[in-house]
Amino acid sequence: MATAVGEKGAAATPSPGRMLLRGALKRCPACGAGRLFSGWFAMADRCPGCGYQFAREEGFFLGAYVMNLVIAQGLVMLLAVIPTIVMLNADPDASLVPVIVGGLVGAVLAPLVFYPYSKTLWVAIELILRPVDETEPSDVRLKPR
Ligand SMILES: [Zn+2]
Repeated sequence: MATAVGEKGAAATPSPGRMLLRGALKRCPACGAGRLFSGWFAMADRCPGCGYQFAREEGFFLGAYVMNLVIAQGLVMLLAVIPTIVMLNADPDASLVPVIVGGLVGAVLAPLVFYPYSKTLWVAIELILRPVDETEPSDVRLKPR
C-alpha cells in the first residue's frame, strides 16, 4: 500500500530491503540521508533530509534496545558459553581466559558498537511494519518536498 507520503509528491516509499539497508548503514530509512548522529550515541530527533520524526511514540526505541540485547546475548553464547562447553568437554583443565575475553567482548563492546545501528534499523523495521499515513500526527510525517 502506498503511503500518504508518496501521494503528497514527496519521496516514494522505498522497498523494505532498501529501508533495511539504509538502517544498517546508519542512514534514514525513509530518504537515505546520513548524518543522523551528532556523536556515537546522540541521534537527531528528525531526519535532516526529509524531516521525518524518528520516535513516533513514547518508548519508541525500546525495540532497538531489545534488538541490541539479543545481539549481545547471542554473541556471548557464540563467543563464551558454547566454546566453554566444547573446551571443558575436551579438556577439563583448559584455560578459560580466551572465553572470558570473548564473553566480555560480546557483553560489553558489542552493545556499544551496535547501538546507533540498532536505532536506525529499528526505525526501518517500524517503517516497514507500520508505514506513515494520514492518521499519524502531523509532526511525525515527512515534510513535503
Ligand atoms: Zn529522511
